[in-house]
Amino acid sequence: MKLHLPIEARLRNAESALRKAQERHRLALRAGGLGSWELDLSTMMLETSEGCKVNFGLAPHDELPYSRLMEMMLPEDRPAMQASVKRAVETGEGYQAEYRIRRPNGQITWIAAYGRPFFTADGTPEIMLGTTQDITDRKHAEAERERLLAEARAARDEAERAVHMRDVFLTLTVHDLRTPVTAIRGRAQLLQRRLVQMQLPADDRQRIEEGLDWLEASTTQMEVILAELQDVALLEIGRPLELKFAPANLVALARSSIEQIRPQTDKHHICFDTPHEQLYTTVDANRIDRVIDNLLSNAIKYSPEGGRVTVSLAMEPEWAVLSVSDEGVGIPAGEHELIFQRYRRGTNVTNSFEGIGIGLAGARQIVEQHKGSMHVESQEGKGSTFTVRLPV
Ligand code: ADP
Repeated sequence: MKLHLPIEARLRNAESALRKAQERHRLALRAGGLGSWELDLSTMMLETSEGCKVNFGLAPHDELPYSRLMEMMLPEDRPAMQASVKRAVETGEGYQAEYRIRRPNGQITWIAAYGRPFFTADGTPEIMLGTTQDITDRKHAEAERERLLAEARAARDEAERAVHMRDVFLTLTVHDLRTPVTAIRGRAQLLQRRLVQMQLPADDRQRIEEGLDWLEASTTQMEVILAELQDVALLEIGRPLELKFAPANLVALARSSIEQIRPQTDKHHICFDTPHEQLYTTVDANRIDRVIDNLLSNAIKYSPEGGRVTVSLAMEPEWAVLSVSDEGVGIPAGEHELIFQRYRRGTNVTNSFEGIGIGLAGARQIVEQHKGSMHVESQEGKGSTFTVRLPV
């Protein structure tokens, strides 16, 4: 067996290997839409491949000397490109540059160029080898993405501004409306007192009395709605509520909420479980009333099949503990905290129950402003227990 081939055969093999390597290189360049070039750094003679000329919008037989390349490059992109070439020659490292060119047909396109200098044995920069690629599509896609992002940012800013304006408007309107409504109710009460001293036929007195009672009840109702609206608006603009603290009997508050809601349902069995006759603590009674109403109405809304709703009131060493339990749809695991956030709702209720997800956020804010806490225990499909702790 011949271990060594004759020199001509080895040369042929080497040439064939070199041709294959060059062919592979050409194929890779073509597949990537790449052009290749070589710049003689002493004469600044530039040799470019067909692919490179295509990248520059030229025909294969066109000339592309270095001076033409620089002319085609947009003037504002030249300094950065020249600086990166200079840096590459100084450091001996490769460079990457992206620049725009004006093609002979006037079209502006983007080129990405990569290059690397090679040096003679004594360290003199000799040639620069590199590639070019037309990256216009990518640049346009990037610009389009930037434009869409900017549009989305502007739309979000605009929406936030509009929401803020709405909240400010709501706060001011509610504030302005409360004054005349309170004045009407005051006047109705005054007339009710005056009526007692007036000499009137019984029929007239009754009609006027009924009218004034109706006026007083309606304005009181409006005041409650306006107070709630004002709290929502304050919550929206992130301001704390102005609470009016006074001693209040939680047993009486809970009982009156239950009695108010009882007529609204005949499917539920609402019970009140407390060992206490009375349980006094210093709270803003209207706001705590609203918290209890909110928990009770949710307990009923989210147990559409009915069942037992239990309100319990107990004492712990430093807390009055009120809880509302139901046997309803419950809250999916992992969403027990989320439902206390504004406009967030359980994924099991969004399509089947009306609501906007603001009640619990407001209720928790009220409780926390009392230095208390509010949390929920729940199992989806089994029911929920909301517990409120208020300091005593
Ligand atoms: P809304 O009822 O308008 O959605 P809330 O803030 O009162 O707003 O409640 C927020 C979410 O908490 C509800 O959408 C629901 O997913 C969940 N939730 C509240 N109470 C109950 C309850 N008793 N049972 C099941 N889910 C409840």
